[in-house]
Amino acid sequence: MRKLFLPKSLDELWEILSKDPDISIYAGGTDFLVKMQKGIINPSSIVCIERIDELKGIREDNDKIWIGACTTHTELLSNHIIKENFPVLLKAIKVLGSPLIRNMGTIGGNICTASPAGDTLPPLYILDAELEICTKDSLSIVAIKDFITGPGKTSLKKGQILKGIFIRKNNNYTIHHYEKVGQRKALSIAIVSMAALLKVSSNGDIEDARLSWGSVAPMVIRSNNVEDFLKGKKFSIETLKALKSIVEKEVSPIDDIRATALYRKLVASNLVLRLIKYEI
Ligand SMILES: Cc1cc2nc3c(=O)[nH]c(=O)nc-3n(C[C@H](O)[C@H](O)[C@H](O)COP(=O)(O)OP(=O)(O)OC[C@H]3O[C@@H](n4cnc5c(N)ncnc54)[C@H](O)[C@@H]3O)c2cc1C
Repeated sequence: MRKLFLPKSLDELWEILSKDPDISIYAGGTDFLVKMQKGIINPSSIVCIERIDELKGIREDNDKIWIGACTTHTELLSNHIIKENFPVLLKAIKVLGSPLIRNMGTIGGNICTASPAGDTLPPLYILDAELEICTKDSLSIVAIKDFITGPGKTSLKKGQILKGIFIRKNNNYTIHHYEKVGQRKALSIAIVSMAALLKVSSNGDIEDARLSWGSVAPMVIRSNNVEDFLKGKKFSIETLKALKSIVEKEVSPIDDIRATALYRKLVASNLVLRLIKYEI
């Protein structure tokens, strides 16, 4: 019979892990329990970490915001600190799953699932999120781009958990954009998604640009070529049109059941044109 543990503190979790280092961890279970139900994984014992208070919450920490890994998407959506500082993350979470999924699913689970279609990932890449990885005796900080090593793969080792996410506060951006294209409006997995942060001066010069795409490569794509092209240019439809061919070169999607690679390339480059809707 499968054993289930429900620790309420990190001390209890470390105790459980010390007795059974191979135990499988989950939080909201919206990815993990689905895989278990489908028979993709069949762990002999499991530990749910969503009741551990030290892994939850959102707080300011000097010039950064700390988000506990087990904070649910719904909690993030209603939090004023997230609303004020990271509208791009908020826009992504609004279109993640359904209200039920957002009530159960956590930001840490979305990161550790490491799906190229994970909705929080493109915003977290352009926000330069840093991840707090811990074991009973150690704590280290890893950039999200180094943490995710492939589709469904992370650098997490046995005994390590994701404790929290640090994001530097930055109110400098004029445009905070997230859009995903799926097969339908609600409850859809991204065929292509794009997150963008642009700082545009009052005379229309692009002073800073950060863009990333989901579902167009094994991992989220953030490209220096794209960002360098935009910096210093006028924010105009001509500039965005000229960017399209660069985006097409930077993304490397595959054909799958949801869309062809060609369609994904086209959508990824067309999505940049959406930025023109923001009035400067
Ligand atoms: C119907 C449905 C619709 C969905 N729609 C979307 C969508 O639109 N967009 C999207 O991005 N996702 C979607 N998902 C996927 C899922 O809901 C999200 O990825 C969610 O954020 C996962 O969080 P969780 O807490 O449920 O993760 P879990 O299922 O608990 O865990 C996922 C993985 O992460 C690991 N893990 C979790 N937390 C930690 C931690 N703190 N430290 C170490 N490892 C950890 C677990 O071991 C497991 O391998 C959907 C899922 C379902 C079932």
